[in-house]
Amino acid sequence: MPPAGGADRRQFYINGQWREAVDPELFTIAEAATERPLGVAAMGGPSEIGEAVLAARAALDNGPWGRSTPHERAETMRRFADSLERRGESTARLVSQQNGMIWPLSIISNAAAPVAILRSMAELAEARTFETRRPSKKGHTIVRQEPVGVVGAIVAWNYPQLLAMAKIAPALAAGCTIVLKPAPETALDAYVLGEAAEDAGLPPGVLNIVAGGVRAGEALVAHPGVDKIAFTGSTAAGQAIGEAAGRSLKRVSLELGGKSAAVVLPDADLDVFARSLDDAVFKNGGQTCTTNSRILVPHGRSQEVLDVLAAYVDDLAMGDPLDDAVTLGPMVSDQHRERVRNYIRLGESEGFQLVRGGAEPPDGLTRGWFVSPTIFGGVDNNSRLAQEEIFGPVISVIPYESEDEAVRIANDTVFGLGGVVFTEDHEHGLDIASRIRSGTMGINYFSMDMGSPFGGVKHSGIGREFGPEALDYYLEYRSIYV
Ligand code: NAD
Repeated sequence: MPPAGGADRRQFYINGQWREAVDPELFTIAEAATERPLGVAAMGGPSEIGEAVLAARAALDNGPWGRSTPHERAETMRRFADSLERRGESTARLVSQQNGMIWPLSIISNAAAPVAILRSMAELAEARTFETRRPSKKGHTIVRQEPVGVVGAIVAWNYPQLLAMAKIAPALAAGCTIVLKPAPETALDAYVLGEAAEDAGLPPGVLNIVAGGVRAGEALVAHPGVDKIAFTGSTAAGQAIGEAAGRSLKRVSLELGGKSAAVVLPDADLDVFARSLDDAVFKNGGQTCTTNSRILVPHGRSQEVLDVLAAYVDDLAMGDPLDDAVTLGPMVSDQHRERVRNYIRLGESEGFQLVRGGAEPPDGLTRGWFVSPTIFGGVDNNSRLAQEEIFGPVISVIPYESEDEAVRIANDTVFGLGGVVFTEDHEHGLDIASRIRSGTMGINYFSMDMGSPFGGVKHSGIGREFGPEALDYYLEYRSIYV
């Protein structure tokens, strides 16, 4: 049985059991909108990670999961999806309370999307041909796709259920076993996955969950029993993980940071641009990896675009993310709010045009980690404001003279994750989008498509999630010469 009280998580989910934490380090999670304590979670370390890896290893090497057929796995995954669906609303609520995500977005990304991903991966497992035979010089070769092994999944707090399921679902479909290490900030909702897995009858050890901080993450990456690390988080942590995983030649998928550009072309319809801002720019208060935090505008239309952005910001309603009328929630933590405000102070000190917002707390919100949505005009793309990922509602508007210059500025970043081109001429938009080096791009809107591969290039990562292509990252080829 799962532990009583959703807000008190002093257990780890290991080998299908709720294992009591012995003398645990406790992390207190506060509600982002009120700063009131929400609950505590035990933070695991190397010893709990070690236990979880052994359980995952045993389930793969000796348990029924390691011998399961794709159809059997798909059936289990569908039961898992059903049991998560029953918990959807309470899970989404818990995420909103922890990280400040507005309720409608939390329902989509933390309740509906994980269920949909599981169901579609179950279908893909059944549809895939895991074994083929091809003629060879002396007979034939059996080419098999086998599970890559034990997967260590490490995720960030900004879309916790979605990020976890983007790894768990393809791993299950491929026949892998998993140790999930959620972020401390959203540890409370992570164990819902364990409850749902237990209800759905996942064999013990197939999914293990140990919340923890960097120490637990490092232990997972270093553990010799882990075959692959699937990570979502910052570029700095991704670089450290890639380096550490390289020592034991583990496979890695890294979904990292971004500093994407929205390119407004001279013929763009600014009503279309305005309608895209929820998704493309301010989603989750800018705490989204694909946030288009740089907006490139033709010199002649700079003021028009700033006016649209100012009107949009003036209409935002900030407050409790569970309130239906609220359109912008707080940041995840005090520490993160300070980080975001420091960038705003930097922009102010650089003398960029402060169109809206600023480092001062928003009027009337004395509790909660709120940041005023902030628009800077006339920003220099070489500045730190334009080059570093801020991960909050802070937008740099950067003027350009020609489309070639717009493309050059869009590419002048270490990141390559998202981006969008606004234009009335779709063919031309496609041409401009193709010249921007980025794993995903949008024309006149940006929203992730769960049926197609998603991921970054350059410092935004290695590998792809979603769509049939995601499954490839959890499989290994084996050739048997017959
Ligand atoms: P973070 O890198 O600090 O932490 C992410 C996770 O990694 C946490 O669980 C953390 O405990 C763990 N971790 C940190 N350092 C580690 C290490 N050295 N070894 C092992 N584990 C370690 O990231 P964050 O600040 O919590 O999350 C925000 C970042 O995530 C942003 O940069 C954002 O762009 C990125 N992100 C990327 C995507 C994507 O799909 N590309 C999606 C969401 C978030």
